[in-house]
Amino acid sequence: MAREIMSDADYEAYRRKVFDFLWREVEPLAAEIERSGVFPNDDLFPKFCDHGLWGLLIPKRHGGLGLTTKQYLPFLAEFSKVAGVVRVLLHVHNTSARAVASYGTKAQKEKLLPALARGDSSLTFAITEPNSGSGMDVACRAVRDGDKWVVTGSKHYITNAGLADLHLVCCRTGAPGERRDRRALSALVISPDTPGFTIEPMPHLMGNNGPYHGILRFDGARVPVESMIGAEGDGLEVFLGELEPSRAFVAASSLGAAERALEIALDFSKRRVTFSKTIAERPSIQAELAEMARDVYALRLILEDVADKLDKNEDCALEASIAKLTGLETVMRVTDKALDVVGGRAYFADYPYPLERIYREARINLAEEGTPSIQRLVMARALLDQPTPLAIGTLGTPYQPAGTDPALGQNPPPDLSYAHDPKNAK
Ligand SMILES: Cc1cc2nc3c(=O)[nH]c(=O)nc-3n(C[C@H](O)[C@H](O)[C@H](O)COP(=O)(O)OP(=O)(O)OC[C@H]3O[C@@H](n4cnc5c(N)ncnc54)[C@H](O)[C@@H]3O)c2cc1C
Repeated sequence: MAREIMSDADYEAYRRKVFDFLWREVEPLAAEIERSGVFPNDDLFPKFCDHGLWGLLIPKRHGGLGLTTKQYLPFLAEFSKVAGVVRVLLHVHNTSARAVASYGTKAQKEKLLPALARGDSSLTFAITEPNSGSGMDVACRAVRDGDKWVVTGSKHYITNAGLADLHLVCCRTGAPGERRDRRALSALVISPDTPGFTIEPMPHLMGNNGPYHGILRFDGARVPVESMIGAEGDGLEVFLGELEPSRAFVAASSLGAAERALEIALDFSKRRVTFSKTIAERPSIQAELAEMARDVYALRLILEDVADKLDKNEDCALEASIAKLTGLETVMRVTDKALDVVGGRAYFADYPYPLERIYREARINLAEEGTPSIQRLVMARALLDQPTPLAIGTLGTPYQPAGTDPALGQNPPPDLSYAHDPKNAK
């Protein structure tokens, strides 16, 4: 039986082969894909298949490569460096496939995963709706009728809607009044051939154009009961469970874009001569480059830690949201600084660097897997739920002096009566 985890040597050989393919055969197409909004499916999809890119996270026994998170993140970063649209396309495909691998029944995995690993099939990840945000306020309803779920409602912004043959849809199966019931949501795999299911393309995007983003509309679509991933009521676990690693995946794509922006700024600064000196010799430019490198390095270290936790199946909602938010802030700062270093040329497409495109592409990280406010919300919630002391601010196991109160780190706890006395309120 094939070993489940790729060895370091095999991984390194595979990584080199794929990165070589990306720079030789994909990067030269990136500007035209973005300009035209047309993805060369016939050319690139079979090559993605030859390189195993559709099955990066699918276990080997189901036809994929079964990469660990630590092994997967560099691929996302490199996709992002080469062409944002490739990153978006493969990120959504692999995250959705991961959900089936994590939560599907044996029969569902055997049916769906080999085709997903070959790229013969692709699955979207559909939570967001026009009139309700992600998660608990899902309004798209699925009502049981015999051996079918009858689905009514809509989803929008759905990535890969223009290419996928299946959609993993978050539906409300609990009663409409149960808005805060954690078991009220379920996950259904729905084919676009289902009567009552239509898909509309969405407008041109700020970046990452290619396979269109879509609006999925369900008008009494009848879906077989065996299409449910997980049990009835597992929806929150399926979708939020995948959002946690996916936040690290988005952060890795931020890392790739930020690294490319830094590489461009470094290259340009060494070539551009003003007043008989390269701009790299100017302290103000050196300061920009140094700060960009600091940001990139910090993000890389955060991601290494989160990947390690995810691979050990440790709960890391806080760390994954920190990575996602840091990734966004990093890529925004670094691409801004790169624009500053490159000057006016950066405002033009491919003149000679693709910085203008990378800048636009990176802004998608704002919305993916939750906006900054939502990341802060998740972080605060996770912080307040954790037993103290926290393990995030220390190198190694936090030190706890003997005999201290584990909750407050002090013995005895401080007298807080002053703070509680209404007379002392301002
Ligand atoms: C290009 C693109 C591709 C996408 N692909 C997918 C996809 O494949 N599948 C999918 O399901 N979704 C997808 N999304 C949706 C994405 O996850 C959402 O855009 C994101 O979750 C924000 O939702 P919203 O756009 O409705 O913003 P809104 O919910 O309208 O938020 C607007 C602002 O209000 C803030 N806000 C909202 N609620 C709260 C709150 N409770 N507390 C504090 N602040 C709040 C937000 O942070 C934001 O700043 C995609 C989005 C984009 C732009």
